[in-house]
Amino acid sequence: MLVEVALPRPISRTFTYSVDADVAEGTRVLVPFGPRRLIGWVVARTDRPPDAAVRPVRRILDDGVPPQLLRLCRWIADYYVAPLGLVLRSALPNALADTNRPQAPVRTRRVLVLTDDLPSLRRRDEVFARARRQRELFELLESMGGRAEVVHLTDRLHFSYSVLRGLESKGIARFDDEEQVRDPFAGSSVAKGPLPPLTAAQDAAVRALAGAVRAPPRSGSRSAPFLLHGVTGSGKTRVYIELLKQVVRRDGRGAIVLVPEIALTPQTVSRFQASFGDDVAVLHSALSDGERYDAWRALRDGRKRIVVGARSAIFAPIPSLGAIVVDEEHESSYKQSEAPRYHAREVAVMRARLEDAVCVLGSATPSLESWHNTAVGKYRILELPERIEGRPLPEVRIVDLRVKADAAGSPDGAAAQSPRSSGHVLSPLLARAVQDRLKRGEQTILLLNRRGYATFVQCRSCGDVWQCEHCNVSLTFHRGRRRLVCHYCFHEEPAPTHCERCGSGDLSFRGLGTEQVERSVAETFPGARIARMDVDTTSGKWAHHEILGRVERGEVDILLGTQMIAKGLDFPRVTLVGVVNADVGLNLPDFRASERTFQLLTQVAGRAGRGDLGGEVIIQTALPGHYAVHHAVTHDYAAFAERELQERQSPAYPPLARLANVVLSGLEEEAVQEAAASVAAATLDEVARRRAPVELVGPAPCAIDRIRKRWRWHFLLRSGSARALGMVCHWIQETRTPGGRGELRLIIDRDPVALL
Ligand SMILES: [Zn+2]
Ligand SMILES: [Zn+2]
Repeated sequence: MLVEVALPRPISRTFTYSVDADVAEGTRVLVPFGPRRLIGWVVARTDRPPDAAVRPVRRILDDGVPPQLLRLCRWIADYYVAPLGLVLRSALPNALADTNRPQAPVRTRRVLVLTDDLPSLRRRDEVFARARRQRELFELLESMGGRAEVVHLTDRLHFSYSVLRGLESKGIARFDDEEQVRDPFAGSSVAKGPLPPLTAAQDAAVRALAGAVRAPPRSGSRSAPFLLHGVTGSGKTRVYIELLKQVVRRDGRGAIVLVPEIALTPQTVSRFQASFGDDVAVLHSALSDGERYDAWRALRDGRKRIVVGARSAIFAPIPSLGAIVVDEEHESSYKQSEAPRYHAREVAVMRARLEDAVCVLGSATPSLESWHNTAVGKYRILELPERIEGRPLPEVRIVDLRVKADAAGSPDGAAAQSPRSSGHVLSPLLARAVQDRLKRGEQTILLLNRRGYATFVQCRSCGDVWQCEHCNVSLTFHRGRRRLVCHYCFHEEPAPTHCERCGSGDLSFRGLGTEQVERSVAETFPGARIARMDVDTTSGKWAHHEILGRVERGEVDILLGTQMIAKGLDFPRVTLVGVVNADVGLNLPDFRASERTFQLLTQVAGRAGRGDLGGEVIIQTALPGHYAVHHAVTHDYAAFAERELQERQSPAYPPLARLANVVLSGLEEEAVQEAAASVAAATLDEVARRRAPVELVGPAPCAIDRIRKRWRWHFLLRSGSARALGMVCHWIQETRTPGGRGELRLIIDRDPVALL
């Protein structure tokens, strides 16, 4: 028999192998590939006579792809123009693609198991005469249900190994290997208290979802997505939990809950654990490959029915899927930045449709794509317009950074005490507000979405700016390490003391970053306990956990950081949120810059006033009139969306058009430029030949035109028709393999979330 096998290689075709058993689609196989061996998946049986000598499959492996996932992966491969083998590779746990260990590892533990229960006391006395420790061990095992792990008995309970062997030699117990399920979250669920009654809006949302759960199968009214638009603090998680109670508890089906990043949303995760206990598998990014594989099998075999995880959890092999929840659906981390460049939210919508599951996308600041889909009737909207327990949204005030801070304007403020350090970081208004919180023992969150100390270093005499030698970006000064760092390729060099071009020692370190905010805030408020949370302080496996734990226990007065601190945190003692500079992302050459800024400001503002103490937000900006800032101040998502949709009409950008970004890169600038021009010209011809309603914009250098030594050019394909756009993308992928000088590469990014 001949089969087509998809291999995890960047090649769009499949490969033919022979196999002497009857294998189903989705079977995992070990095959020869050139001089190597690879793990692949049978995706079709074929009777087409092969053009060359066909090699046989080396080995048929277990743990194949469940059929429903194979179907989903085929859709992804087609829509995102990615090789099916690569899609399968990223949909499955690493352990299943390891050619060195083709049968995925199952960790076992050695246990001692009772085989004789010695019913009468007299027999026990006979058997254990002069063997007190053996009798103690016997009775302990009995009390533990007849089995215990060997290391537990020897290391923790201090039985010597000879005592264990004594029971074995008497035929009363035997040693055994049993599979150990690695679950670092087991037993970590929070004790449940009774949940508070639902608000009227929550109740209405839950009823609408219940209606969908009970809708007739395959009627469409089950799987048409819901957009749950709830302001920050309105209790979206509670709505998800009520939905899952119906799906999992009542109907015995499974559910997927996607969150942007587990480490940043520990509170959301623990609420699911509190409600569903051991039914929940948490796919934390810190899990080992073995732990991830264990969770995968527990879900596939129905031992756990709910998965909570980031992007790739959308591929959880849940056999009878009843619901998918995508929390914070606007987050760009749901889009994978390497092939396959899928968007987990869109994959969720497709999976729900394929498996007839209820699908809920939730956010306080929905993506314009999802919002637009409610306007055109594709998605159903559910609104939670108010916070729970009648709490008000925090009051938001603006500090205009263009107005020079005037010492006379702050007669007794804390800032006046230390004007130099706080002058360019915290305005007098914000500094006074922080001081008030310190006095009252409340907590403050300060956001600046830029890490490092200074984002560029410039020579004051000749104007030279230090740039990365591999990328066209300026280097960021990290004061703690006294180094310049490239945030794109991680190149580092020692911080300069003088200019290499003109020799001047007069250097300016400019562009405020979180490290500098930390230093300045520490100088302004000497007694305050400050924690900084950004990529630089959270490299350890459990670093997020540790910092957020300290905030939760009240050991931190001021939490400052990048966008990491804007997601989902719920600390009742945070009564002040300060945005150090709202304009950081606003001027990026990307059509989503305003949307991102609005989302970030609204989300971080939402961290304030979640308890009974009320909340206040102060935003520092040089662009107070910008609509992204203005509508965040008034908490008016609908007004923002209306304005932003106008901005995207002409030229049309998503959601009013579909885009694909075609990027060419290579080591030689000229070769890249030529290749971009030639692929674009050929694409234009093909578009004309097919009369496809697709527009081509460019080619032009990318906004960052060199990264990791590779020059980058791109062009955009724009269309109102997803089908036409897909057709043209496939044509490029299949016919335009760039060759020639300088390692040319071509990538196609469909529905890009960033155009830099
Ligand atoms: Zn100079
Ligand atoms: Zn670099």
